[in-house]
Amino acid sequence: MKKKETKTANLLYERKHFWKDASTEEQQSAMDFAEGYKAFLNSARTVRGCIDYTVRELTLHKFLSLPAKKNHKRVFQVFRNKTIAMAVIGKKPISEGFNMVAAHIDAPRVDLKQNPLYEDSSSNMACMKTHYYGGIKKYQWVSTPLALHGVVIKKDGSILNISIGDKDDDPVFVIPDLLPHLARKEQYTKTIGEAVDASKMNLVFSGMIAPGSDEKDAVKSYALKLINEMYGIDESDFLSAELELIPASKARDGGLDKSMVVGYGQDDRICAYTALKALIDNLDNVPDKTMVVYFSDKEEVGSQGNTGAHSIFIQDFIASLLKQNGEADNSTNLRKAFINSQIISADVTAAIDPNYPGVHEKQNAVTFNYGVGIAKFTGSGGKSGCNDANAEFTAKVIRTFNQAGVYWQMGELGKVDEGGGGTIAYILANLGAEVIDCGTALMGMHSLYEMCSKADLYSTYKAYKAFIVAE
Ligand code: MN
Ligand code: MN
Repeated sequence: MKKKETKTANLLYERKHFWKDASTEEQQSAMDFAEGYKAFLNSARTVRGCIDYTVRELTLHKFLSLPAKKNHKRVFQVFRNKTIAMAVIGKKPISEGFNMVAAHIDAPRVDLKQNPLYEDSSSNMACMKTHYYGGIKKYQWVSTPLALHGVVIKKDGSILNISIGDKDDDPVFVIPDLLPHLARKEQYTKTIGEAVDASKMNLVFSGMIAPGSDEKDAVKSYALKLINEMYGIDESDFLSAELELIPASKARDGGLDKSMVVGYGQDDRICAYTALKALIDNLDNVPDKTMVVYFSDKEEVGSQGNTGAHSIFIQDFIASLLKQNGEADNSTNLRKAFINSQIISADVTAAIDPNYPGVHEKQNAVTFNYGVGIAKFTGSGGKSGCNDANAEFTAKVIRTFNQAGVYWQMGELGKVDEGGGGTIAYILANLGAEVIDCGTALMGMHSLYEMCSKADLYSTYKAYKAFIVAE
């Protein structure tokens, strides 16, 4: 018998570098894809902004809000203006399983408090009190231009949209940081987590007073007068409002080679955008299995509440889909639908940072330009609180990606016991579905200037596009 020669190289798992191996055409596609993505980040600045953007796109592509007319296959449902699910109903019964890509559209930020406005007597300035949202490093949010976005519900119940700071001639807001000259005791003696106290993250709002005014709190009064002139609201309208501060900067290219996108909110809007595009670019044929894309809210604070992934909303949406497809929408059928389904928990992961390589274990970490990152599990401290995708499903997803020529890499969030983090994967897995984490790697996650590689952005889109029509 002749001995078969096996090249050692063929036995190795080796990731492929997108810029080394991809065709010129594909590389150009990756660069082009990023243009739409930057425009999305600059348009969908808040959770509600993401919903508006998505509904506009879906409507353009003939999706109808549920309950839709009979036999209509492209449907969506918005819930409380902060979470959305969309689907293209396939040939097979939904109870036999659907393919879902699930991302979140909330991002860390700094919210205004409910009764925010006050006049600071020591500085004679009108200020706004804040309460941050999600896992921010507080020192990053001081000394940086911020835009104010959100909604005020007026006394007649109508919604007033506020957006200040995105246009070039808009004013911006700053939470001032202490000058280094005087920071010795206040900041330098403290840990990085304590150096900026959350109670000192007050925004400088305005400083003028009415001509000739000698009333008490003249600066605050003047601020309220301006607000009333501009928006027709008074101080009590803040009590129910949702107003948030986000970086007043546009997403733009990063690096001399323009191979990256720098911008706020990429966790997790990068996965939301790529999932939406993956769905829309699969509309040419009626799929065998129903394709679902789901954007949840509140992931950054634990996915609780009626718009978080723990909400009954996503189950209610699938029940509505069953009904739309003429299938029984009872509890048994709904359970069957989830149990038979396969889901990508589409969330970002951490790329190796050149300044802090030590927090990763290189052999099992994700690096820029090697494609979308697959994480079999997340969690922290011994996989605690994680979804650990089953081997069978993990292998199936890898097969799907390989068949579609997707650049992908396997990687965990960080070294064992270095820290960790979770996604919505376990919440959907609790419903019985096969779920795996898969998303783009970022540098500077949760910062004001998150970075991604355009190669990985494009690979994420290609991955979701292949997965959502998989068997
Ligand atoms: Mn995330
Ligand atoms: Mn996050």
